[in-house]
Amino acid sequence: MHQIACHECDLIHDIPSMPNRAAAVCVRCGCVLFRAKTDSIDRTLAWTFAGLVLYAVAVSFPFLAMKNGPIANETGLLTGIEFLYRQGIIPLAALVLLTCVLIPLIQMLGLLYIFIPLKLNFRVKYAIPVFRLFKHIKPWSMMEIYMLGILVSIVKLGKMATIVPGLAVIAFGILIFVLNFALSAVDEHMVWEKLEGDL
Ligand SMILES: [Zn+2]
Repeated sequence: MHQIACHECDLIHDIPSMPNRAAAVCVRCGCVLFRAKTDSIDRTLAWTFAGLVLYAVAVSFPFLAMKNGPIANETGLLTGIEFLYRQGIIPLAALVLLTCVLIPLIQMLGLLYIFIPLKLNFRVKYAIPVFRLFKHIKPWSMMEIYMLGILVSIVKLGKMATIVPGLAVIAFGILIFVLNFALSAVDEHMVWEKLEGDL
């Protein structure tokens, strides 16, 4: 049993475990409290593993190559941040590091930490605080904005030099979608019920 408050009228409901695709509706105002998701554990894990592979490519391969005549400069996601740091733009370097490198990684590791034990039916310590943390950092992922910044700089720098998008840019772009799929596959109600219940 798990308690949930109606988003519209704040009425508290006790919700039992629900079959796949079933929706719980508020008894007072009729708005949908939530909908149980199909194969949430498998889908979350599959998208998260795919995300980790893309992440590994995004941090280790060149992001952009800038060609100006015979001189070619390659930049990676991490070397780009280092560059900002060395230019003295430290707050921006920290922000990019946090929102584009650390938070996506923490999110994916957090999902694995919660969902692998759920899948295999065992308990891990601190699963509840980890899931709380996971929910709190969700709005802090800003990879989309970073990607937009990169696209703008490609267009702008394109006038001065030839910009060749690297493998990492493509991986990073796909990762944004894959991570969103992983996050939307999470059935929070089911997770709370399993974490707080007897499994
Ligand atoms: Zn209601």
